[in-house]
Amino acid sequence: MNERAPVELGAADRKVIDLLEAGETEEANALFDRLVTRPLTATSDRFTLACTLVLRAVSAWRLGRTPVAIELAAEGWTELDSGPVEGTDAAQALGRLGYLLDMVGRRSDALKVTRRSVEVAREAGDPDVLAHCLQRLGGGLNIIAMDAEQPDRQRLFTEARKHLEEGLRLVTEPRVRRALLGALSRSAAGLGELDLAEELAEQTIASSAEANWHWGVCVGQWVLADVCRQRDDPERARELLLEAARLAETIRDPIVLQAVGLDLAAVARQLVDPATEVAALRHVVAAAQRSSDTLREGLGQALEQRRFVVRARRLAEAAQRAAARDPLTGLANRLGLEQTAPVLINSAVTTGRAVWLVLVDIDHFKTINDIAGHHAGDCVLREIADLLGAECRVGDVLARWAGDEFIVLLAAGPNERSDIGAVVAERIRAAVDNFEWPLAAVAELRPTVSIGVASGHIDLDSLFTAADTALYEAKRRGRNRVEVYPGGIRQQAL
Ligand code: GH3
Ligand code: MG
Repeated sequence: MNERAPVELGAADRKVIDLLEAGETEEANALFDRLVTRPLTATSDRFTLACTLVLRAVSAWRLGRTPVAIELAAEGWTELDSGPVEGTDAAQALGRLGYLLDMVGRRSDALKVTRRSVEVAREAGDPDVLAHCLQRLGGGLNIIAMDAEQPDRQRLFTEARKHLEEGLRLVTEPRVRRALLGALSRSAAGLGELDLAEELAEQTIASSAEANWHWGVCVGQWVLADVCRQRDDPERARELLLEAARLAETIRDPIVLQAVGLDLAAVARQLVDPATEVAALRHVVAAAQRSSDTLREGLGQALEQRRFVVRARRLAEAAQRAAARDPLTGLANRLGLEQTAPVLINSAVTTGRAVWLVLVDIDHFKTINDIAGHHAGDCVLREIADLLGAECRVGDVLARWAGDEFIVLLAAGPNERSDIGAVVAERIRAAVDNFEWPLAAVAELRPTVSIGVASGHIDLDSLFTAADTALYEAKRRGRNRVEVYPGGIRQQAL
């Protein structure tokens, strides 16, 4: 690779995996080193970013670089979690996450994520991406099927086969085709269709060898060995598995390495051959186990960490929402009003519409509390909050400002009368006055509200001061009435 040429991130990351699968570990390590020093922020959208992060996590994992793998996987997953998921990059990222989850032994999570990747790929409409996702889903199901008891085993291999066959009908990329063929041979062997499994495995081996793709050769040999075992030819199976184990070590795929190692152990036991092969095999199994335990633990921690981050973010958002809301009435509180008011005011100012502030205060609320009780007082606050909601429009801002004071902030519509604030205020006043209070103790007291209304300012403080002056006037003039600032009685109640 030309050092000075700008690296296309996705392609370079893909190359690391290619090198690994061709058994070129040193080169893969060197390229990976160069890649991780480059910032990823230059990548366009978050799906591309997520996709690259997860792909890189897979490389790090395969290279045995646990801490980096952890960090990248956690980051990639968080990125995928932060919004709706769509498009081919997202499908690929989900597919790779599924692969990582499989590696850390979280098979049911892996299956869920992989199924989701197929759904997303189907929506996205790229046949090769869909074929790739189907290959991962089929491959994952194969792995689960191998450990399952009948009838689940049969059902899982059958489902795997269905996905893999669909993938083969769609695929045009040779590498994905080879992987599909290899996985389909595994399903066929699992279903006892030995001739088909043999034919597909041979095809996988031939095409993979031609492309110098060790992974495909390894999987093909492993499947052929299974076919030999089912045909009562353990000697040939042992030969194939020894070769597959050698390849599995070079490609550093712990799942394949373990599966091959375990099969070889079983064949050696069957052949009552405790000699060199078994010793070597034990070594293979132990090594695979050791490395996957370390990595498993590491990624397990990453998952916890990720969950913690997501949970903390959700809690922070919920706390922020709660802090801006009045728990008794569900309306915005003073903080909520201060947060949302500028949005409404700015939008009204830029479109040349008047802003109105309607300040509502319950009359003699202290007396209501004293006579009907604090609980009844709370009910009055809630009912009035509901009445405000019913009298206002969707875009209006409603808030409980203080104890028995409410604010409605509204912008006049384009063809609306210029005194719309006063009109809304009068509607509110009348609605409270005519309300049939369900609590007898409250109904007897006939709660009313006084309202001050102001316009002509474009900041919350000035609007409030003006409306408060009008409210004071409404109280002074006998309550249950609306006053508009500046001066003048707009609505005379009763
Ligand atoms: P005015 O007509 O002049 O507005 O008289 P008022 O009695 O309504 O005026 P004041 O501001 O003195 O009383 C407001 C009362 O609201 C005092 C306080 O105990 C009561 N209050 C404040 N918050 C709550 C609440 O959350 N629940 C209940 N039940 N009462 C509250
Ligand atoms: Mg009051």
